[in-house]
Amino acid sequence: MNKGEFRERAHQMVDWMADYLEQVDNYPVMSQVKPGDIKAQLPNLPPVTAESFEQIMADVDKIIMPGITHWGSSNFFAYFPASKSEASILAEMMMASLGTQGMLWLTSPAATELEEQMMQWLRQMMGLPTYMQGVIQDTASSATLAAILSAREKASNWAINKRGFSAQERFVVYSSDQVHSSIDKAVKIAGIGIENLRRIPTDENFAMIPNALQAQIEQDKREGLHPICVVSALGTTSSTALDPIDEIGSICEAYGLWHHVDAAYAGAALLLPECRYMAKGMEKADSFVFNPHKWMFVNFDCTVYFVKDAQTLKRTFSVNPEYLKTNNDDEVTNYRDWHIQLGRRFRALKLWFVIRSYGVEGLQAKIRSHNEMGQWLKIEVENHPQFELMAPVPLNLVCFRFLPPMCTHADEINQFNERLLNTLNATGKIFITHTKLNGIYTLRLVPGNFHVSLAHVQQAWELIKETAISLQKR
Ligand code: PLP
Repeated sequence: MNKGEFRERAHQMVDWMADYLEQVDNYPVMSQVKPGDIKAQLPNLPPVTAESFEQIMADVDKIIMPGITHWGSSNFFAYFPASKSEASILAEMMMASLGTQGMLWLTSPAATELEEQMMQWLRQMMGLPTYMQGVIQDTASSATLAAILSAREKASNWAINKRGFSAQERFVVYSSDQVHSSIDKAVKIAGIGIENLRRIPTDENFAMIPNALQAQIEQDKREGLHPICVVSALGTTSSTALDPIDEIGSICEAYGLWHHVDAAYAGAALLLPECRYMAKGMEKADSFVFNPHKWMFVNFDCTVYFVKDAQTLKRTFSVNPEYLKTNNDDEVTNYRDWHIQLGRRFRALKLWFVIRSYGVEGLQAKIRSHNEMGQWLKIEVENHPQFELMAPVPLNLVCFRFLPPMCTHADEINQFNERLLNTLNATGKIFITHTKLNGIYTLRLVPGNFHVSLAHVQQAWELIKETAISLQKR
């Protein structure tokens, strides 16, 4: 493709993108293909000679699009959203064109300095402690791994980085029984061992019970184990439960443990002054992660990791090969040692475009409107004689189930709700997902996409009610 051709194709691509974004709500939200359907249409061998742009685009429409689940649809209420906005798509296009790899200040000073400034903006926008320093990472999973590795190194006085495990460490990490699987993964990768991840019981709101945490720490210490880190959640994945980070932070301080706050989804709500109560005690946290790619309208991927002490993070990851040394290493930030990988994308550009395009007030208005949609649905569920609210709704995720009168046994009710979920998703009109709370099959609906409105939630709710009523008659 020569440069002239690129210009022409790029214009066509932008038209394709704009058409897609205009029509996204008309597609079946969850892809309706069967396993293997897409692969069966793809040749086993790569083309030996070049194919035309038209051929490729025709196959995009024919083969790829049916296999897409439309995360950007206003009828996507599943998991947590990977919310994007037009401004972030434009920035992503620019990132791809610049092809910046910002591992060192020198490899693109603008990438580093814009990131430093974005971290300062976000700290201020979210009311985080002024001393916290931030870095953009790919995902919350990586940031949580960085936190657990930092905790491990601090606890071993950097001995494990040097000599590996001595078999004497017997480290323990704590989270709640609502823990996200990324913490399980991090504990495995960091060599702590999954059996040494303690799942502390939660209260009726699915929030960690501080007394139970303390009792477990005491017991582990009595048994000669070495507690090193607590990962608390601001917004658990199942139900956006809020762990009491103030009390947990005090326990961490008393026992000298690293306190990592996982706010992967709900962190964006700290943009709202009325939600800052969630962050009471943040000054005791050692690290905090949230994903602008979940609920701040920056398209995937963009995670922000804040730490109290950047030196500990850098010391954990620092390596200094000759070929990466530069003349101004002492004067500048080289983000290469602030995370696991060396190379890094210019994600700060997306944050900059998004924050400037919508302004803090614009972002706040969106997030607040999503919370209002959640509260609207919560009241509808509470007022319906056959639906049951399964968890508090501090933000915009609503957990509920249907209680069919003919089902008396717990398993039957679970199976009915599973059937309800599958029937709803097969319509292609909405996409919702499930979890289990106290072993009970629970439907989750979360309105968090950029263009979702109350009308979409109302339509979804009508569909859920109609489908449940018609299923119970079968
Ligand atoms: N932590 C929580 C509470 C989450 O809900 C999720 C994902 O939904 C993650 C961590 C992992 O996020 P990521 O996909 O950015 O690794």
